Amino acid sequence: MVGGGFAGASCARALKQLDRDLAVTLIEPETAYLACPFSNAVLAGLRGIEAQTFGYDRLGDIGFIRKRAVAVDAERRRVRLDDGTDIGYVRLVLAPGVDLRFDALPGYDEAAAEIMPHAWKAGPQTLLLRDQLAAMPDGGVVILSAPANPFRCPPGPYERASLIAHYLKTSKPRSKLIILDAKDAFSKQRLFEAAWRELYPGLIEWVPLSSGGRVTEVDPATRTLVTEFGSHKADIANVIPPQRAGRIAQSAGVADQTGWCPIDPVTFESRLQPAIHVVGDAAIGG
Ligand SMILES: Cc1cc2nc3c(=O)[nH]c(=O)nc-3n(C[C@H](O)[C@H](O)[C@H](O)COP(=O)(O)OP(=O)(O)OC[C@H]3O[C@@H](n4cnc5c(N)ncnc54)[C@H](O)[C@@H]3O)c2cc1C
Repeated sequence: MVGGGFAGASCARALKQLDRDLAVTLIEPETAYLACPFSNAVLAGLRGIEAQTFGYDRLGDIGFIRKRAVAVDAERRRVRLDDGTDIGYVRLVLAPGVDLRFDALPGYDEAAAEIMPHAWKAGPQTLLLRDQLAAMPDGGVVILSAPANPFRCPPGPYERASLIAHYLKTSKPRSKLIILDAKDAFSKQRLFEAAWRELYPGLIEWVPLSSGGRVTEVDPATRTLVTEFGSHKADIANVIPPQRAGRIAQSAGVADQTGWCPIDPVTFESRLQPAIHVVGDAAIGG
């Protein structure tokens, strides 16, 4: 099992529960997992980051290798680790989550993310965006840019907008939140928009694709987001860039040209490589 997030850790535990004789080994470089669900509440100051942090001590009788997988030899059925050693498998499950595509939006690279945080992986990025919001003077403009489908957690940007709006309404009521969206429709839209009208009237402006919402370029130096229709200057810019399956999926040959992993929806076995299964955000689950 490569990746100890929601998908990998749950799958490892479920396999072991199904058959105690299975030898299950989890490969994960981190000692603690930082969960994204509820991390939007951290941004709004409603929750501490420590509440997002989970250890691996309750995994039970599962081998744990604290290393990163760097390559997969599907022919020989071996996984190469970042210390140069390798480990064999009968069945491999990849659960690496997503990689942010720092090559997809001109101007947006890892350095830019230190100024215009994505906060799409929980941890330092969450705290950076939280601290930027806390430091922003009342009357500021927050811009959230949401990517085209598919991406991790389709309702996530709009849940985030709601939580940021709550923070602005209660702490910085003269401020404004603009959502620049690369889509004309989004997950649970009717519910979100009804709640925004009721709870945050006039605070959130959603700019869909057809009204020039798609961000085509960013300039971190001036915190400017360029769209097909013009440019927007932000006090705080939360740029959620396009994504793809985590890198190990690409190198294992289980990701297709979309960047995501086609699977058999019953067994989660890759449609591209036998004996490799892909679970979680990396897989095309639909
Ligand atoms: C702001 C936000 C809010 C969200 N809210 C919700 C919610 O309310 N409900 C919900 O269901 N979902 C929510 N999600 C989505 C949820 O976080 C993801 O669907 C979930 O994390 C996917 O789990 P995963 O195991 O596929 O990937 P991840 O959770 O990203 O885990 C991947 C793991 O793999 C490890 N890894 C990666 N590469 C390697 C490698 N080469 N070798 C070894 N290990 C590796 C990583 O270290 C990581 O621990 C939210 C997401 C965001 C961004």
